[in-house]
Amino acid sequence: MVSRVIPVEPFDLVIFGGTGDLARRKIIPGLYRRFWAGQIPEGSAIIGAARSDMTEDEFRTNARSAIAEFVAKDKQDPAIIDAFVACIGYETIDAKGTAGWAALKKRVRKDVVQAFYFSVAPSLFGDIAERLHKHGIATKDSRIVVEKPFGRDLASAKALNAGLAQHFNEAQIYRIDHYLGKETVQNLMAVRFANILFEPLWKSEYIDHVQITVAETVSVEGRGAYYDKSGAMRDMVQNHMMQLLCLIAMEPPYHFDPDAVRDEKLKVIRALDPVRPEDIVRGQYMAGNGQAGYLEHCEDASSKTESYIALKANISNWRWKGTPFYLRTGKRLRARTSEIAITFREPPHSIFDDAEGWRENVLVIRLQPNEGMNLMMMIKEPGPGGMRLTQVPLDMSFAEALGADGADIPDAYERLIMDVIRGNQTLFMRGDEVEAAWAWTDPIINGWEARGDKPRNYDAGSSGPEDALMLMHRDGRRWREIRE
Ligand code: NAD
Repeated sequence: MVSRVIPVEPFDLVIFGGTGDLARRKIIPGLYRRFWAGQIPEGSAIIGAARSDMTEDEFRTNARSAIAEFVAKDKQDPAIIDAFVACIGYETIDAKGTAGWAALKKRVRKDVVQAFYFSVAPSLFGDIAERLHKHGIATKDSRIVVEKPFGRDLASAKALNAGLAQHFNEAQIYRIDHYLGKETVQNLMAVRFANILFEPLWKSEYIDHVQITVAETVSVEGRGAYYDKSGAMRDMVQNHMMQLLCLIAMEPPYHFDPDAVRDEKLKVIRALDPVRPEDIVRGQYMAGNGQAGYLEHCEDASSKTESYIALKANISNWRWKGTPFYLRTGKRLRARTSEIAITFREPPHSIFDDAEGWRENVLVIRLQPNEGMNLMMMIKEPGPGGMRLTQVPLDMSFAEALGADGADIPDAYERLIMDVIRGNQTLFMRGDEVEAAWAWTDPIINGWEARGDKPRNYDAGSSGPEDALMLMHRDGRRWREIRE
């Protein structure tokens, strides 16, 4: 089964920060893949806008090299690449000054869909929004896409929202969280709300607990100075993991409509209890398994920033009271894996004698690698020897089900950019959602800063700090193993 290409209208997409790392690795290759798939209509234009003094030809050459590096070889067709780069333009622009804006105005058309991707530091969001208006470039229908981090606390997120709101209304603002563009994440909603099977069981009466794990093997080397000001809580939990938690925990929206979905997510965030200090474990990787430690990467020998966090979150509402959500994420762990595991409660009574073979049902949703789902079920162990039980996975691997190798599944960025062009905000965060997430996160961070808490050490290449194990052991539960 190949993915269907839903046509969009011709558009002008301006990428502020078009010469940056994100544009090179994700945005330009993603747009090319959509062009290759035939989704970008004739007459569309992609315009890089950045500080670098560069000619259009130089920018196109950069785009070619980004495609060569980041697009699969079987999609690198010379004729298609030529046609794609012919749609690309470039303007040197100063986000904080006047240079380049008049030229940009001449380029951007008013009779096609207009989107402006702010792939720049958040400190420039307000300047760019203001200039798009001052120079008469944006219209009331223009869309703007803003990148993370959306603030570093509630106050800064509010200031960013207020800065954008001076020039754009909420329906024009697309706050990217690329996790929401992942196939499996959207499938979470399909599995929950397009099937009758799970929803009746989707509550604390039947679900013992939920584990959300985002484990990375990469270190912060090369971006240590930036990461050190952020840490795992701000970088991963407040945004990506919060979004995953919301999609698992939310009530069914009345329709798959941007505001209906986002209203339900917001209710979940607001129902989150404050997290008690004893329910949080912060960690920092130290040298181990032949790998360097965090302090060598972050350029501050006394840094207390966490590269790992595990916490227990409780949602105070009818559906979830009594079902904890355990979240953990970290850098330099033993394997790269992202998954959500929903562990069901034990059957109320066992008619079988084989207590040893018995395990709970677990629904495992893998975001990476090998996107897909597994439902761990109990069956009878085949063969003679009486009624012995064993657990087997009911495997729903999307790559296998949807195509030979899943190669036609678009990457999160390309899907989200096309949603912007289509004007569909369902997979983007609304301003109040982001603020509510910060309102929950702020007291946690303020708490450890006020106490001067130091993160626990863990060996690079391990499963994280020992104390994180205790977080679950003490509740009579255990983390799933971190492995690919
Ligand atoms: P980068 O430093 O590589 O690029 C920054 C871009 O902004 C460059 O094109 C530069 O020319 C432009 N710029 C800087 N000052 C400017 C000015 N005064 N006027 C005009 N242009 C100016 O940054 P990046 O890694 O591409 O990140 C861009 C944004 O995306 C940031 O908000 C970042 O947090 C976010 N982000 C990046 C990644 C990633 O993987 N790189 C991932 C998630 C989010």
